[in-house]
Amino acid sequence: MPNLPKILSWKLFFLIGLLIILAVIFLRMPKPCQETITYHIGNVDDRFGLTRQEFVLAVNMAAAMWGKPIAGELFREDAQGAIEINFVYDYRQEAADKLKKLNYKIDNTKTSYEELKSRLEKLKAEHDQRSTVLARDFNLYNSRINTFKANVEYWNRHGGIMESVHKNLLQEKNELNYLWEKLKVRQDELQGLTDTINSMVVVINEIATNINLDSVDYQNTGNALGREFCEGFYKIENGKQTINIYQFDNNYRLVRVLAHEFGHALRLNHSADTKAVMYRLIQSDAIELSPDDIAALQKRCYN
Ligand SMILES: [Zn+2]
Repeated sequence: MPNLPKILSWKLFFLIGLLIILAVIFLRMPKPCQETITYHIGNVDDRFGLTRQEFVLAVNMAAAMWGKPIAGELFREDAQGAIEINFVYDYRQEAADKLKKLNYKIDNTKTSYEELKSRLEKLKAEHDQRSTVLARDFNLYNSRINTFKANVEYWNRHGGIMESVHKNLLQEKNELNYLWEKLKVRQDELQGLTDTINSMVVVINEIATNINLDSVDYQNTGNALGREFCEGFYKIENGKQTINIYQFDNNYRLVRVLAHEFGHALRLNHSADTKAVMYRLIQSDAIELSPDDIAALQKRCYN
C-alpha cells in the first residue's frame, strides 16, 4: 500500500496550509484603533458664516481629540475618505438665528425651555389681540372707502362735484391713503410676529426633545426621528458613513459636536457622564475628552 502515506501527507499538508492561511487572515485583520478611519468634507453651507477652511479646521481638531490618549491617529482626512462630513443649514438653524437676532437666549436647558415657552405664550396672546384689532381696523377702513366711493359716484351722477364738496372729498381721499399705509405697516409687523412665533415653536420643540429623549442618534440609525433633534448626526446607510452637523453656536462647541459624532464612528455609545464628550447632550464647549471617554475608547481598542 504505497499510496496511503502519500494521501495522508497530502491531507496533512492541506491542513497545515489552511491553518497558515487562517492565521495570516486573523493577524492581518485590523483590530479597532489599529486602522485609521478616513473622512472627507462634503457640503459646507456658507449661511453659517463659517468658511470651508474654518470648518475643516474644526473637523481636524475633533478628529485629533480621539487620537491623543492613545498617542496615535484614529482619523485622517482623505479626498476619498470613508466618512462624508457635511455642514447642513436647515430650518432649525434658521429659526435659531432669527431668535438670536431678536436677542433670545437659546440653549438645551430646562430654564431656556421654560423661558421660551412663557415668552411664546405672551407672544401668542399679543398676536391674537393685535390680529383682532387689525381685522377690526381693516373693516372700518373698508366701510370708509365704500362710503367715499359712493359719495364720488353720487356727485358724478348729479352733474359733477361742487367746489366745496370737492375739497372735503380730497381730504377724505388723503386720509384714506394715509390710513391704508398705516394698516399695511401693521400687517407687516404682525407677519413678523407670526414668523417669530413659528421660529420659537421650532426651537422649543427641539430643546424639548433634547431634554426628554434618550439616545437620540447612533442607536436609532434608520429611525427618522433620530436626525430631527441633534446638533449633529452620524449614520451608516447602505455602507456609506455620513456625519451631518446642523447647528453652529461657536467654534468650540462645533469641535465638541464633531468629536461626539466621531465617537459614534468609533462605535462608541452614549456615556452617562455629563462631562463626557459622548454624553448624549452637548453640555459644554470643552474640547477635551473626559476620563470616561478615554476609558470607553481604551475598552474599545484593547478589549
Ligand atoms: Zn450621540
